[in-house]
Amino acid sequence: MGNQKERTTTGYVHSIETFAALDGPGLRTVIFIQGCPLKCKFCHNIDCALKEKKGDYISAKNLVKKILKNKPYWESCNVSDRKCRGGVTLSGGDPVFQPKFTLDILKELKKHQIHTAVDTSLYTSHKTIDSWLPFVDLWMVSLKHMNSAKHRELTSVDNKRILENIVYLDSKLSDIPNKNKDTQKLRIRFLVIPTITDDPEHIRQVGKFVSKIQNLEVLEILKYGSHGKHKWIEIFGKYELEGVPEAEDKDIERALKILENYKLPIKK
Ligand code: SF4
Repeated sequence: MGNQKERTTTGYVHSIETFAALDGPGLRTVIFIQGCPLKCKFCHNIDCALKEKKGDYISAKNLVKKILKNKPYWESCNVSDRKCRGGVTLSGGDPVFQPKFTLDILKELKKHQIHTAVDTSLYTSHKTIDSWLPFVDLWMVSLKHMNSAKHRELTSVDNKRILENIVYLDSKLSDIPNKNKDTQKLRIRFLVIPTITDDPEHIRQVGKFVSKIQNLEVLEILKYGSHGKHKWIEIFGKYELEGVPEAEDKDIERALKILENYKLPIKK
């Protein structure tokens, strides 16, 4: 991506969303980083996940400067303030696709004491996790499937690295000295896809795995919908999950009933 100097501070941004209410605590600005190492069949942002150099090519510094005008609605920008509710979420695609660019954005945001969240698959290296760690308040990691072969079928990669990285990140979060218990947490996001991820035994495996996470903020249960279908058809000529039913309230209730046994903080 450009010359050596640019590579350290400049990257591709697909788009920016303001007043987002679903991507982390409070009202947030979401930066959609271009590119993702996975290709999930359910991805509703597949144009943003493409491994292409497209979008706005901008330096981390200028990007943060651009979004700072949104600061008033982030409510409180002081992360040591427990009332902190809004901030900036780095999503995509997946920020792990442009790790150094993401790191520089996080550093810039922290210069302004802005609450930061990253929405990621965590399909990355320990080195990337370590480098981001001091600058991330909330890690939002999607747990896509506990079965490795099914994970590969669904996302194009197996889950070994992701599950190991969740455990690794959790241990690194526990090691942070004098950690503010309200920040630097790990949120697990789980998408209920009828006939693919909603098998009761699979839900139990998710509950068991998540119940071991020490720094869990919440387990967020999300409902599968096919709203990204038109993008798949536009780009690839077909939608991979054709015929898979969208999740309904009853599917979520069934999953929640099973998860009750694990006494986890749940968000739906
Ligand atoms: S990890 Fe997220 S952005 Fe990447 S392909 Fe999967 S759903 Fe899409």
